[in-house]
Amino acid sequence: MQQKLKEEIVQYLHDRGADMVRIASVKTWAEVGMVREAYRPSSLWPSSKSVIVIGLQMPLPIVETTPSAQHMELYRTCNRLLDNLAFQLTLWLNRKGHASVFFSRDGYGSIDILIKKPAAAFAHTFAAQYAGLGNIGVNHTILTREFGPRVRFVSVFTNIELPPDKMLKESLCIRCGTCVECCPANAFTISKDELRDQMGKIVADYDKLACAKRSKLLTEKRCYPCGICVKVCPVGEDRKLYGREKALKHYREEVKSLSQARKDPLYNSWEHIRSHGSLPIE
Ligand code: SF4
Ligand code: SF4
Repeated sequence: MQQKLKEEIVQYLHDRGADMVRIASVKTWAEVGMVREAYRPSSLWPSSKSVIVIGLQMPLPIVETTPSAQHMELYRTCNRLLDNLAFQLTLWLNRKGHASVFFSRDGYGSIDILIKKPAAAFAHTFAAQYAGLGNIGVNHTILTREFGPRVRFVSVFTNIELPPDKMLKESLCIRCGTCVECCPANAFTISKDELRDQMGKIVADYDKLACAKRSKLLTEKRCYPCGICVKVCPVGEDRKLYGREKALKHYREEVKSLSQARKDPLYNSWEHIRSHGSLPIE
């Protein structure tokens, strides 16, 4: 019975444009114990039994232009569509008599507020991981097989006990360190030895404040968010679609090229897009 309803939910969301849909049991938050109690679905809405996690892809060629107004618009559009999907599903379930609520995908008022308190009331990243959509990479994002970290998530809490999906067992992060190397804010700290140690640190130390300050600068320049650690990650089938499986050298050299203010033809199209619709970043 609940399996049939789960299939209907998945179909409903795919028919409306979702790329990824999986279910996590609310019990998983307590079982894994990584998320503080106040941030768990059972605390945020005590009636919740399952979390339906919805993912939408961010097409790579636009992500590659970051920081740009085009990337900002993609990010906003993706967020808006995700919220629409989650809201539509919530109403559809409520009308069927299954109490449900959704958490919008960002949930903060401004970058200044984020700098003061760099945390969301609810982290969709954990929901995505517990629903088996992917797992965390060195860069603190959820990597998926389909889109690497170039996917955004939203979550719907429901009081239905839906059959949960299995979490992924193997890590998708190949620990290449490109995200660490290319971050313009040097927000990640992890040594080469730590990267090589597969059984050691899962994620780099992350300076949230440095990242939030970079976001503030990009917001002022009208080309928020940064997302370079999302752009450069080699994981994801989406790279095949765009013939970009071997782009790491291109990304690494871009950092050098930009720091020397060279006019490198390899980056002409990105620079063209960046030079329209947002203010220059000195
Ligand atoms: S979003 Fe940008 S500044 Fe923040 S961690 Fe990623 S690469 Fe660094
Ligand atoms: S860029 Fe490399 S190290 Fe960073 S998250 Fe992706 S696979 Fe992992």
